[in-house]
Amino acid sequence: MKNKTALVLGAGGFIGSHMVKRLKAEGYWVRGVDLKYPEFSDTEADEFVIADLRNQSKVTTVLHLTETYGKGFDEVYQFAADMGGAGYIFTGEHDADVMHNSATINLNVLKSISLFSSPPKIFYSSSACIYPKGNQLDPDNPLCSEDSAYPADPDSEYGWEKLFSERLYRSFARNYDLDVRIARFHNIYGPEGTWEGGKEKAPAAMCRKVAEADSGVIEVWGKGDQTRSFLYIDDCIEAVRRLMHSECVEIINIGSEEMISINNLANMVLDIAGKQIELRNVPGPEGVRGRNSDNALIRKHLKWEYTHSLREGMNKTYLWIASQVDNSKEEKTYGKNTKKNS
Ligand code: NAD
Repeated sequence: MKNKTALVLGAGGFIGSHMVKRLKAEGYWVRGVDLKYPEFSDTEADEFVIADLRNQSKVTTVLHLTETYGKGFDEVYQFAADMGGAGYIFTGEHDADVMHNSATINLNVLKSISLFSSPPKIFYSSSACIYPKGNQLDPDNPLCSEDSAYPADPDSEYGWEKLFSERLYRSFARNYDLDVRIARFHNIYGPEGTWEGGKEKAPAAMCRKVAEADSGVIEVWGKGDQTRSFLYIDDCIEAVRRLMHSECVEIINIGSEEMISINNLANMVLDIAGKQIELRNVPGPEGVRGRNSDNALIRKHLKWEYTHSLREGMNKTYLWIASQVDNSKEEKTYGKNTKKNS
């Protein structure tokens, strides 16, 4: 029997590259597509296509398998998006690109898939950023159950695009009889995620700041009492795979319920690193006041629980980012391809 086949869009990014590894470990034949190759390790995809998914004909081309593999893919994972952490999403400077680029990708993917006589099962990665800002004013009691999404009022254009695209995927599911699965990710983190350059998210940014500092102060954006929950990458991938195997067609949260303030996240990283450095809260983009995943629905449908505590996940992430920081210091000192001892 032939292997099952999967197309991973955004396979050069953080979650997409981890999904490729997981699908390969499960025996899938995988094609990855992205504007770039994964930054931190070689792709494990059988085929990797560099393509801009804002181009409709490119999308149609990558959705078609070669003769060897027959018609189309069994599964498509749509992770490609123009996104980043608070410094990218909440300043307002990238709103037009974020909305245009991501919406165009999703419009193209669905239009091309709708033309297949035997369309693949599709996963779409939405975000906790779709939840109304009015429900997330109290850092201690944010409301993020799936049914609280409407009346809609996300706090960023990134969130509005995700909400639009959720509706787009559901419309195509209804009108073109597509099998669509959608999850709202809540802050996924772990090794091999962006850790510098402006698109990094809070856990990676915190690890980098702590790894780089030996004295002085660590700056934390906002008052520091804003809360979030963070989910370790392996737990995210497991949840997505279960959703794809399940009968669940409801939109579900994929996140952790271990809520923590941003200052306490910074303190956790300092503790992991064994460093004593003062925190300083400075004005900066911070998003909603509080956010936590509500896992009642995913528990009910998928019997899924996250297995990494935040401390365990941050430990692994800190070790990886600290090694990246060391490598980049070495490169600056000895040159890019020069090993210290050679
Ligand atoms: P990422 O930025 O690491 O990966 C996205 C990838 O999409 C990048 O590699 C990028 O090059 C690619 N891409 C962007 N525009 C493209 C284009 N025009 N053509 C081809 N490829 C293009 O992000 P990630 O953290 O891996 O997130 C994956 C998905 O999950 C995204 O849709 C994101 O919005 C969603 N999400 C992530 C989180 C999180 O915490 N990481 C939270 C909520 C939702």
